[in-house]
Amino acid sequence: MNEVKSPKKPLIYYYFIVLLVLMIINLTVMPWFNSRQVVEVDYGTFMTMTENHEIGQVLVDANKITFTNKENTQIFKTGRMDDPGLIERLHAAGAQFGGEIVEEMPLFLSILLNWVLPMVIFVVIGQLLARQMMKKAGGGNNSMMFGMGKSNAKVYVKSAEGIKFSDVAGEDEAKENLTEIVDYLHNPGKYKEVGASMPKGVLLVGPPGTGKTMLAKAVAGEANVPFFSMSGSEFVEMFVGMGASKVRDLFKQAKEKAPCIVFIDEIDAIGKKRDGQLSSNDEREQTLNQLLTEMDGFEGNTGVIILAATNRPESLDPALTRPGRFDRRVPVELPDLKGREEILKVHARKIKTEGNIDYAQIARMASGASGAELANIVNEAALRAVRSGRNAATQADLEESIEVVIAGYQKKNAILTDQEKRIVAYHEIGHALVAAKQTNSAPVQKITIVPRTSGALGYTMQVEEGNHYLMDKKEIENKIATFCGGRAAEEVVFGSITTGASNDIEQATKLARAMITRYGMSRDFDMVAMETVTNQYLGGDATLACSAETQARIDHEVVETVKAQHEKAASILMENRAKLDELAQYLYEKETITGEEFMHILNK
Ligand code: ADP
Ligand code: ZN
Repeated sequence: MNEVKSPKKPLIYYYFIVLLVLMIINLTVMPWFNSRQVVEVDYGTFMTMTENHEIGQVLVDANKITFTNKENTQIFKTGRMDDPGLIERLHAAGAQFGGEIVEEMPLFLSILLNWVLPMVIFVVIGQLLARQMMKKAGGGNNSMMFGMGKSNAKVYVKSAEGIKFSDVAGEDEAKENLTEIVDYLHNPGKYKEVGASMPKGVLLVGPPGTGKTMLAKAVAGEANVPFFSMSGSEFVEMFVGMGASKVRDLFKQAKEKAPCIVFIDEIDAIGKKRDGQLSSNDEREQTLNQLLTEMDGFEGNTGVIILAATNRPESLDPALTRPGRFDRRVPVELPDLKGREEILKVHARKIKTEGNIDYAQIARMASGASGAELANIVNEAALRAVRSGRNAATQADLEESIEVVIAGYQKKNAILTDQEKRIVAYHEIGHALVAAKQTNSAPVQKITIVPRTSGALGYTMQVEEGNHYLMDKKEIENKIATFCGGRAAEEVVFGSITTGASNDIEQATKLARAMITRYGMSRDFDMVAMETVTNQYLGGDATLACSAETQARIDHEVVETVKAQHEKAASILMENRAKLDELAQYLYEKETITGEEFMHILNK
């Protein structure tokens, strides 16, 4: 897209400074230069100077006498009197006759030199400076020098190769939601006729990397209107009032360019709840207030539509989300299986691939990946193809890059001791075997025991078949048992335990705690929420909301739940000890086992 310069601001501040400088120069420096300017004296002074031999040069005209002092630094002038002995006296005083006495500078020349010339020079320099700063700022305003706090919103003009909805794969609900806005921008008359007004603001909420920015750009691309984009954090300035002035400026520009899309990324940076705490931030609040005022200030039908993205919708100020401001909320969720497949295909179009790639398979393997991660997976596959000297990416490249993106690169020089490798093999098979033996758990896709840069020594890829919206209590318990399976295998086989299970322990605990505090799946607490999730899209941290006593009981119940599943896992493994040994031996030798091989050995 082409960037265009935002309208040039008057250089009024600059000219004001120039005028001030000129005045100072004229008052202080210039008189010194002009000291040879002619001074009018009376005839008496002239006579006294003559008597004191103070005359340098002298020029006697018909009706005036011009003379200088001995040092020739000052010119004097006086009228001519009828003074017969004058010439003799001057001669006696040692004055020089004739010669050239530089006459007074004509007034217009003096003004030209003192005022106009410097002004012209300043203006030329100023223009050059301004032009250079414009270039540097890439079309932004020269905000540093010629006016504080101008908005740096980038303006994009409509362009043929802009992003379209077809570039955003999956996210059908979000697209459908935004189509109405595109339609409105195309044909506002249709809406005005019925008296319907468009929402002024639309909030795109969802986890990072799901394509919120892309969707906003696509709306502008589809509607063929300018796209102003700014990040919420850019409004937060050091000085109180600067952010507010940026908001004002952004809206002024937008209104001039209407119809258009204004996109504010990470709006939670300014739109956080004003909670009146001691740590409240004046600057941020002012900026937010300005934003609220601006949004109230224009009618719903001016054609300026504000899209904002956030992954912390719960932290936004209620004033921002009330009707008339960001009253429409479009969820942009992590893609489902079909969505992942489409995203992979969209990005695979940009690289060279072999013809026989099973994208559905890759999508199934990359469960839980965001759009950004999938884009990264495709790129990693292309890089891997180049690294091994091929000219197209293969299925294997894509499969390996899932592990790279999720678990990190293979650590080539991390050498496990024989015993360590055996423990890791048993640990990973333990997870898989417990999962496979519990009918409701998903079968494994692949297990490798090559150390990864993320620190994982082994990696088990579980596969969910299709989409899943509800989990019953049994399933969650089975999941916890699967997490415990690794450690249980170590215990069953080696009788000792290692540090390798720390991540499993964390996950199992999280699940058990959620069962009790949020899903109402405990014996004692019935349907009472003990915890509320504070940021759903960023890891899902939760805060406890109960008395200390209850907390102790919750902790106790979490321990009981995990313990029960740990025992279950251990008993499954003991019952299948022969298979456990056989599978672990296979993995130990081959370092990789696929789901098919695993099931084959298990069902032999
Ligand atoms: P967000 O703003 O939600 O954090 P972005 O819109 O910046 O995410 O997406 C980052 C990148 O991820 C995009 O440039 C694109 O390559 C890829 N991506 C994310 N979602 C999708 C999608 N639905 N379709 C195609 N590519 C996507
Ligand atoms: Zn484990």
